[in-house]
Amino acid sequence: MSRYRLIPTPAQEAVLRDHCRHARYVWNLAVEQHSHWHPGRKSAPGYLEQCRQLTQARAGYPWLAAGSQTVQQQALRDFTQAMTAFFDPGNPAGRPSWRKAGRDEGFRIVGRGRQWDVRRLNRKAGEVWVPKAGWVRFRWSRAVPPDAKSYRVTQDRAGRWHIAFAVIPAPVPAPGNGQVVGIDRGVAVSAALSTGQLLHCPGPGVRERARLRRLQRRLARAKRGSTRRGRVKHAIARLRARETDRRKDWAEKTSTGIARRFDVIRVEDLKIPNMTRSAKGTRDNPGRNVRQKTGLNRGILRSGWGLLVRRLEEKAPGRVEKTKPALTSQRCSACGQVDRASRESQAVFRCTACGFAGNADVNAAWNIAAGHAVTARGGDGVARPVNREPHLLLQPA
Ligand SMILES: [Zn+2]
Repeated sequence: MSRYRLIPTPAQEAVLRDHCRHARYVWNLAVEQHSHWHPGRKSAPGYLEQCRQLTQARAGYPWLAAGSQTVQQQALRDFTQAMTAFFDPGNPAGRPSWRKAGRDEGFRIVGRGRQWDVRRLNRKAGEVWVPKAGWVRFRWSRAVPPDAKSYRVTQDRAGRWHIAFAVIPAPVPAPGNGQVVGIDRGVAVSAALSTGQLLHCPGPGVRERARLRRLQRRLARAKRGSTRRGRVKHAIARLRARETDRRKDWAEKTSTGIARRFDVIRVEDLKIPNMTRSAKGTRDNPGRNVRQKTGLNRGILRSGWGLLVRRLEEKAPGRVEKTKPALTSQRCSACGQVDRASRESQAVFRCTACGFAGNADVNAAWNIAAGHAVTARGGDGVARPVNREPHLLLQPA
């Protein structure tokens, strides 16, 4: 992610603030329309229908009509994309939620060359074209990715403006070595490769967790609406943002490395939303260990597994195969025997039939590498409402 500090003039800042307000208004209108919709009902308004409604809204509200149509239409497109992500079983994104003033301020512009462009002024500054605001300066803290297709402008709670350029990762060429890798996802180990390599997605460190707990206690004591409360909330948001950045960075590097080393990448076709939806049980262990599972839910999300798989699919298109997640953790990769007792502990697998022993996650990764691909994504394809932590995952911004 490449994020830069934006430095608008006071006049430009007023325009940016309007863009944020309009994007938020349009987004919330879409949330409102979709909130009355449930599976089985007549479909909620799609993008085109919403665009028609936007035209009507603009005709009715001069303040909306005075704003940029580009910004407003993009907010609708972002919403549609967020809904698609929400219904994608491989994506942990939650239902698009309300955007609050002063909290989720931002807008997105796509179409480089038509709607926007970027140019460098000097060693330390660049300019980006923002509809209706013109060329806005930003700190050239590092090179702007030449293949950036869109950007997102945001204002944080401290009132600072940022711009982030989004890049769709270019496909990584296959090495052509005929090698197949199986990847098992886990909580203790984020990803175990069938090569025996164990990968760990960075989570919050001990000190960070302690700091977060301290801040949360302070937040609980702070009066609603106070400056102090605002400051504490801002500090928490920054801590979380840093953690997310690290996770994204890990998924980025790991996916590139894997796409470069192997021709075929096999992963389990896990329906993460189904697994994280409730602690009541999973295929391997229905309805037991509910307390550990609650922790597991958070662990899955934290491990960045969904992000890793999505990046792999982008970087190695057509080379990622999803296999049926049937008993991979209980099956012996040497003789094929399936026995729950073979899984001696979280880390150790010891086959009760042939005596083969090894790392439990790597054993599972071998089974996945040998597994058969499932064709249809998501199986039955029926979208269901799920109660997950509200968490919006758009394009990398
Ligand atoms: Zn065996």
